[in-house]
Amino acid sequence: MACLVGCLLSGVPSARAQQANLDALVEGEMPSLLSTYKSLHAAPELSHHEQKTSAFVAGELRALGYNVTEHVGNYAGHPEWSGYGVVGVLNNGQGPTVYVRTELDALPVEEMTGLPYASKVRTKDDAGREVGVMHACGHDIHITSLLGTAKVLAEMKGQWHGTLVMLAQPAEEAISGAKAMLDDGLYTRFPKPDFVIALHDTPALEAGKVGITPGYAMASSTSVEVTLRGIGGHGSDPQVAEDPILEAAEFVLAIQTIVSREDSPFDPAVVTVGSIHGGTRPNIIPDEVRLQLTIRTYKEEVRQHILEALKRMAQGIAAAHGIPPSLSPIVTADESDHSPALYNDPQLTARLAQVFRTALGTDNVVDLPPVMASEDFCRFALEDRQIPICQFSLGAVDPAKLRESRRTGVPLPGLHSSLWAPVPEPTLRTGVKSMTSAVLDLMK
Ligand SMILES: [Zn+2]
Ligand SMILES: [Zn+2]
Repeated sequence: MACLVGCLLSGVPSARAQQANLDALVEGEMPSLLSTYKSLHAAPELSHHEQKTSAFVAGELRALGYNVTEHVGNYAGHPEWSGYGVVGVLNNGQGPTVYVRTELDALPVEEMTGLPYASKVRTKDDAGREVGVMHACGHDIHITSLLGTAKVLAEMKGQWHGTLVMLAQPAEEAISGAKAMLDDGLYTRFPKPDFVIALHDTPALEAGKVGITPGYAMASSTSVEVTLRGIGGHGSDPQVAEDPILEAAEFVLAIQTIVSREDSPFDPAVVTVGSIHGGTRPNIIPDEVRLQLTIRTYKEEVRQHILEALKRMAQGIAAAHGIPPSLSPIVTADESDHSPALYNDPQLTARLAQVFRTALGTDNVVDLPPVMASEDFCRFALEDRQIPICQFSLGAVDPAKLRESRRTGVPLPGLHSSLWAPVPEPTLRTGVKSMTSAVLDLMK
């Protein structure tokens, strides 16, 4: 009673009253959020084709009073792709500008979960192949959490000040959507953010918990294509040929020493050859072998070193085989398929962790180690980490199943699996509660 009187006199609700109010509002939204989630899950769309999903998000934000702009995003060099980015702005007086981001896209995966709301969508991908489509990364969880957050914050306008921007980004899986939105003037057409925050579901945590990773949280990703050229000939006559298959075999082994012998053990890095193609028949020495690699690092200088080392090793191996300079190897990094490392601003991350402990309980906030997977969320920080950003993890797995998996050592289906099935409750409740609390604190 004392608090109530004090609060009424001051006009400012106590932290406890605000939390109770928030919990009640989120609870009231749960039935509608569950139904939104299931509809989104059943209707996934591939990267660069998020037409209906973006229109739905835009319509929902508009109905909540946000000033909505659609079709934000410009894919340089790809006129066949439309930018389906959505920006919803809610002005609420003087104060910081906070962006909350979700992704919109799904994956070319045929869903095998057997859930009643499982996706049965099939379509043609950009290469013309018939594929199943599934929200196998949980971006439908993120969209629903963003819409729930947008609703609750619209109702709690008396308790925050500033400019709130709901950002729905297309083509995260193709790591091209964030760049497309920034290239289309995201930070000039709309207010530049003081903070950008996002969440991502994870199979590593029980539903009801969130995970935080200060500093480097996800690696940079670079795709590299290598063509090793030789001199083809008859398989029975190797002495008059230069065998690129042998070159490739040496190259694949040699490049593993870049990480193990050239990089500092304190700078994590991965070099993976994901594809290798050469030759057509047992008795023909081919003219060339093509390899596709992915490189993961946290530091840019480590990435640059690996790219240089790949060229040096390819050239050195070709020279050792006596390949003429006119046929020296071609090593190309595809900068359009590159994502920088995700660096969670340590100060912002620590602040959010404290907010989550209050909103969810200390036991439900867990420190998670960084991973070598990649995301394009990092782009919203701009070069040289100009804007503090933080992506936190949202537990999405049935606690009993996770306990059993830890006991037996049998892994559960992870992200991008055809069996990935986040439990909608309490995952969505925690998603909305954590994101809303984060914004309220940043804009109090
Ligand atoms: Zn993904
Ligand atoms: Zn994802």
